[in-house]
Amino acid sequence: KGLQKNHSSGILIFFNLYLNRWSMSKIIENYKRILIQIERYNKEFLATSKNPKLIAVSKTFSEDKIQLIIDQGQRIFGENKVQEATKKWVVLKKRNKKIELHLIGPLQSNKVKEALEIFDVIQTVDREKIVKKIKDNLDNKEIKFFVQVNIGGEAQKNGLKITEVEAFVKWCINDMNLRVAGLMCIPPLDRESSYYFNLLSNLKEKLKLEHASMGMSNDFAKAIQFGATYLRVGSAIFGNRS
Ligand SMILES: *Cc1c(COP(=O)(O)O)cnc(C)c1O
Repeated sequence: KGLQKNHSSGILIFFNLYLNRWSMSKIIENYKRILIQIERYNKEFLATSKNPKLIAVSKTFSEDKIQLIIDQGQRIFGENKVQEATKKWVVLKKRNKKIELHLIGPLQSNKVKEALEIFDVIQTVDREKIVKKIKDNLDNKEIKFFVQVNIGGEAQKNGLKITEVEAFVKWCINDMNLRVAGLMCIPPLDRESSYYFNLLSNLKEKLKLEHASMGMSNDFAKAIQFGATYLRVGSAIFGNRS
């Protein structure tokens, strides 16, 4: 009986190794394909494209999978949780130079200090309390900040209402001396994204900010068309998150 058990678990281990190898090669393949697609859309939307940078959204994925595309040359990554990011990226950043890590998930004020230690860009600034906390902990670190806009006015989503953005951004820059580099949004799931990307792009231009972070696996083509400067792509590179 013991022998039989060893035998079947041996097969299982072999099968898992095989599956892992397969998913690893798939990630590299996906990554290369996304880069080609981005190039193609840049050409297709030549008049409006801002040649956006790709943020590889690595939330929930392990360090060995992330390292695969670092080895392919990717340097910009996104995570949505401070704790998970710290656990993975302290070592990954030590091992790989010039990483630019973006926080794209909600920021609690009790996590601000930790977030400022691991992230290079924080995309989810959305209230005064967070800005004050950031100022208290920033020291001389070179961190960029984006203001998150609740572009579809959804009750369950974080971010400022469109009508609040201008005053908030001016307050951040003038009163708080915070470096606001751009705006970020997540459009409503069940709607055509183009309309919302256009709104964010116009708002960003009006406020003379440098960056618009928008577009995910399913709609990054439209984000390129409407002038994104950063795209946030996860599952189209790493596969589905379990
Ligand atoms: C997870 C996440 C993404 C990536 O989504 P995909 O559909 O997997 O590309 C982008 N932006 C934010 C804010 C996310 O939380």
